[in-house]
Amino acid sequence: MTRYSAFAVAREALSYHTGWGRAWRAPEPKKRYDVIIVGAGGHGLATAYYLGRNFGITNVAILEKGWLGGGNTGRNTTIIRSNYLQDSSSAIFEKARSLYEGLSQDLNYNVMFSPRGCLMLAQTQHEVRGYQRTAHANALQGVETEWIGPERVKELVPIINIDGPRYPVLGALWQARAGTARHDAVAWGYARACSDMGMDIIQNCEVTGIRRDGGKVVGVSTTRGEIDCDKLGLVVAGHSGVLARMAGFRLPIESVALQALVSEPVKPCIDVVVMANTVHGYMSQSDKGELVIGGGTDAFNNYSQRGSFHHIEHTMAALIETFPIISRLKMLRQWGGIVDMTGDRSPILSKTPVENIFINCGWGTGGFKAIPGSGWAFAELMAKGQSPLAEEFSLDRFTEGRFIDESVAAGVAH
Ligand SMILES: Cc1cc2nc3c(=O)[nH]c(=O)nc-3n(C[C@H](O)[C@H](O)[C@H](O)COP(=O)(O)OP(=O)(O)OC[C@H]3O[C@@H](n4cnc5c(N)ncnc54)[C@H](O)[C@@H]3O)c2cc1C
Repeated sequence: MTRYSAFAVAREALSYHTGWGRAWRAPEPKKRYDVIIVGAGGHGLATAYYLGRNFGITNVAILEKGWLGGGNTGRNTTIIRSNYLQDSSSAIFEKARSLYEGLSQDLNYNVMFSPRGCLMLAQTQHEVRGYQRTAHANALQGVETEWIGPERVKELVPIINIDGPRYPVLGALWQARAGTARHDAVAWGYARACSDMGMDIIQNCEVTGIRRDGGKVVGVSTTRGEIDCDKLGLVVAGHSGVLARMAGFRLPIESVALQALVSEPVKPCIDVVVMANTVHGYMSQSDKGELVIGGGTDAFNNYSQRGSFHHIEHTMAALIETFPIISRLKMLRQWGGIVDMTGDRSPILSKTPVENIFINCGWGTGGFKAIPGSGWAFAELMAKGQSPLAEEFSLDRFTEGRFIDESVAAGVAH
């Protein structure tokens, strides 16, 4: 693999950039792998990467039914933060956030991590209490966040309307080291690094069945033939229930469409991420100048990866109340992704009832920010059978009543 650097760019400029190699190989599937990961989204690719980097396991295939990064990883609004309430959540999200800080160097791929800061607005007394509580919890967890008043919010975001007609801004939970990254680049960077370690990323390869010998996995059936493996990792977000059914167990997961949209590009007008959960909308500005706007989930379970008009209307109404300046902006695109929601709004990283099948799902509306931490922990779980970061997120918690309630931090917002 050619190392990307300023020298490489200069060298290639002399030959009209004809010398760049492919970022990842497109191999034919082998008959057998030590580990198969199903799903080449961010979490699947990061898992494979840390299996190789941290544990030297490289006889790995990542099977993807479409194109890599084409699921939720390529559809999200890229918010990265770690201001969660429960200790186990902030541990894994903070691990992820801190890995994001050095990810471009680690992968030798610019993931455009931008720690621009994130504000979660409090617009009711209930939210004030909730976010103040989170700020105290974060202080104990060693996660840097701060409760700030409305005047400071206005300083940070001059275009905001803090005296909204229905819900004035009463303050905010501010995480200065939160931010955004380029979602495609995160998938592409991990993919390139996995391919460089000799792993096979096999696109257009849908897993259609899971083969067992008694209680143990032996391989998968795919649209490109049967492939054997010792260990199988299911990392398919909204399709987790479908894959679990193939393996013969059920998951406490519901799949729903979550939507987002972007405006036409405008000059820089907002340099932080703002989330307004009461009116329900959130916004940041991309490097191209588009306002990246997050909407809500559909109120019914479905697998349709698309947006709908009533969501645009509700989301825009909420945001125009908070940012009247954007009222005449044209919206360019909208889309949807299928998110995997658990009842306690926390993920599942776990062994399963089938020996050597592991599952990583339930990241719901907020898993982009977790990709490096989730990959790190899940690789450890698959390699060693346990991981301190993943321990609390096992499937047992649903039968033991040990929920990790993150409905305030993760219920709707990202
Ligand atoms: C509109 C929207 C906005 C969001 N905003 C944010 C945000 O701002 N911040 C944040 O942290 N999170 C956000 N999220 C959530 C985040 O995108 C997801 O939690 C995260 O990307 C999940 O990554 P993944 O790798 O688990 O899943 P995915 O990226 O969906 O990857 C799973 C892959 O599995 C593949 N697959 C499925 N079935 C099979 C099969 N049978 N065989 C082979 N492959 C299969 C799919 O094709 C897919 O590529 C948002 C999500 C959406 C939809």
